[in-house]
Amino acid sequence: MNPDQLLIINARLLDPVAFKERDEDLLIIDGRIAAVGAGLRTDAPNARVLDATGKCAAPGLLDIHVHFREPGQEHKETIATGARAAVAGGFTTVCCMPNTTPALDNDTQIEFVLTQAARAGFCDVYPFGAITKGRAGTELAEIMLMHEAGAIGFSDDGVGVASPAVMTRALQYVKMIDGLISQHCEEPSLSGGSMHAGAAALRLGLGGIPAVAEELMIARDLQLNQRIGARYHVQHISTAGAVALVRQARQAGQAVTAEVTPHHLLLTDAACAGYDTNFKMNPPLRSAVDVAACVDAVADGTIDCLATDHAPHAREEKDMEFDKAPFGITGLETALPLYAEALVHSGKLSWVKLIEKMTVNPARIVRLTDRGTLNRGAIGDVTLFDPHAVWKLTHESTQSRSHNSPFYDRPLRGRVTQTIKAGRLVFNLEQAAPKGRDHSGKAAIGQ
Ligand SMILES: [Zn+2]
Ligand SMILES: [Zn+2]
Repeated sequence: MNPDQLLIINARLLDPVAFKERDEDLLIIDGRIAAVGAGLRTDAPNARVLDATGKCAAPGLLDIHVHFREPGQEHKETIATGARAAVAGGFTTVCCMPNTTPALDNDTQIEFVLTQAARAGFCDVYPFGAITKGRAGTELAEIMLMHEAGAIGFSDDGVGVASPAVMTRALQYVKMIDGLISQHCEEPSLSGGSMHAGAAALRLGLGGIPAVAEELMIARDLQLNQRIGARYHVQHISTAGAVALVRQARQAGQAVTAEVTPHHLLLTDAACAGYDTNFKMNPPLRSAVDVAACVDAVADGTIDCLATDHAPHAREEKDMEFDKAPFGITGLETALPLYAEALVHSGKLSWVKLIEKMTVNPARIVRLTDRGTLNRGAIGDVTLFDPHAVWKLTHESTQSRSHNSPFYDRPLRGRVTQTIKAGRLVFNLEQAAPKGRDHSGKAAIGQ
């Protein structure tokens, strides 16, 4: 048996580059995809064989928007526990946001995250650097040095960059290095509430975050960037107006991409009626009109990327009154079935199109060109899932250190069964350790 060779047989391959589903074998040698085709067993008689009968095989999923809380808030999530939750959700590459304590705003912090990720060993974790020092919005951070240290893009996520002058300089800087600005679009002077500004907020007596707070910042940034032409990405888009702005800019030829989260495709502000803080996130759950516009925008390609905005918080922090609790929910382990519910089971997208938006499209946005595909020579990252399996996320089975999700006990259809990182099995559903075990250590599963 050759440990450096893995042969996956009997899977239905979902190829998001050729837009094909095909029943073929897939051979990984030395961490790279060596061959895709029929009857590969004779080519590699000594390979380890993984029989994937009844399962789909996609390129390893990529999530370009997660929050791991290291450094500073390791009680919520560390890079290791976050990476472990990522592979349980089928993700082999994730990009973490810089709103840690302290913020990732210099090259030393970027190197720290990369070192911790390599030590954890489950999946690749690439950090975003902050746009401004301390994410304070006033002074540009060391963008060049962070870029050289391996920052995958730049964002002040948690807040938007409010000053047009600072944003202009940021766009000019990243343009020089062909970098990426990912913006949390929220005009702060219109914000300060805890849910969507609409009839439900009035009924519940809660302060609102209006749709226009998001739309104003997108419109402004698109205008600022018109002459600069930097690569600009809208994080967690959530309103019909925001979608229309992105669609218009695309049609005018601007370099703009956008991501959405599962909760903004499945839930409305009506979910806040019970004051359950697991429905509190930023941007907030919006109206049914906004949800429908976001779903349509994914279907027509305006929204080209699906992310999670995985945002772990400790129970005692979420156990507060609605207007005092922190924003955000976990999402890595439920992303695939929730996206399938919103887009595939509803007939809006095929599985291959869904996988495109969770693999090759985000890979292109962050310029990781060796992944998101099953082409020969690509990195040997593969996610196997049973598209029909019905299951529930439980507090016992979650691999995240935090439990702040509104999707516990929701029947989910589609389940990741194995995750392969560079030819190595880093998650196997049958052998997954129950909660509380081995939460700090290395990837210990399989080869
Ligand atoms: Zn954000
Ligand atoms: Zn975020």
